[in-house]
Amino acid sequence: MLTKSSSISLQRPRITRARLSGIPLINWAAFILIGVAVAFNAGCGGAVSNTAGQPREQQRERRVTNQSPDGVNNRGTSQTKMSDTNVEKKETTAPTPFYTQLKKALRGRKLKLESVCDMSNPVSRRVLEDYGAMFLAANSVTPPPVCVFKNEEEVSEFQISAKFTTAIVGGDQIELQPAAMSALLAAREEAKGLGLNITPRGGSEAATRSYQDTFRLWNTRFLPALRYWNSRGRLSKEQVTALRRLPLGEQVREVLELEKSGIFFSKDFSKSILYSIAAPGTSQHLAMLALDVEQFADERVRRILARHGWFQTVKSDLPHFTYLGLKEKDLPARGLLPVISGKQLFWIPNIGE
Ligand SMILES: [Zn+2]
Repeated sequence: MLTKSSSISLQRPRITRARLSGIPLINWAAFILIGVAVAFNAGCGGAVSNTAGQPREQQRERRVTNQSPDGVNNRGTSQTKMSDTNVEKKETTAPTPFYTQLKKALRGRKLKLESVCDMSNPVSRRVLEDYGAMFLAANSVTPPPVCVFKNEEEVSEFQISAKFTTAIVGGDQIELQPAAMSALLAAREEAKGLGLNITPRGGSEAATRSYQDTFRLWNTRFLPALRYWNSRGRLSKEQVTALRRLPLGEQVREVLELEKSGIFFSKDFSKSILYSIAAPGTSQHLAMLALDVEQFADERVRRILARHGWFQTVKSDLPHFTYLGLKEKDLPARGLLPVISGKQLFWIPNIGE
């Protein structure tokens, strides 16, 4: 049950968006895939990172697995034993490929992968594989119908149909899907009993966001980079104009293409834009199933959240938690792979390539 401060509302989430504008956006995660090292970000805004300014070698995560080096779970990363974490080897279920479980989960919701995500689009595919854990969530919540929302209307329609709950948490009004909120409030109660606290990191925007938020954050990187590379002679005036006029989806694709030739769109123009900003329409926060937690560094808090179905599913995004509504021991069988990054445990899609 929800507390008195919570109430079910069928209106579109209303959050004060302005407060993020003055917050520096710091990088979060390098996401290492075989052969490609483009990092994506779920759009945490003021998130911290364990990777900012560090060389690539220091970003390598330790995979938590008991499989042999030749096993299916190979993302080109070093390995460590289960005993290094709080995940008890004996208690976890057998690992299952992400896409097997994803298709099953979507079937259960009367959806097909092809209608949810354009797998021929490399941007969509990468987004799905980086943020896709939420599609495996319990039936008590509603994952998005698409891996990339195209506009505000799509987001609004989804947020209204999925329903959400509002509560004052740590002095901030946040909005989440009802089951996610119930679990969060229960976790807060448990934490309170231990003298701990669980509060949003960065105010209301720690939870639900709008499409406009993700679009605005994108432009805080995209536009300055256009000016910078134009002044450096790497992009012509015509190219800049053309890029600005592109539909958003094509804009993201073109930016990633330019970054392959060293024309980077991050804040300091030295790395991918996706190290610090989610592609518009892709953040888990749009699904009302994510919360950036102030006390993320406290392992006791992370364990409490995990017991209530809140897990970290976007690798190296240290304050970012996703509500899955599942038991931790069941996550491997649900298509998620345990990975250690920044001394924290992440459950990421088990791509198995
Ligand atoms: Zn986040």
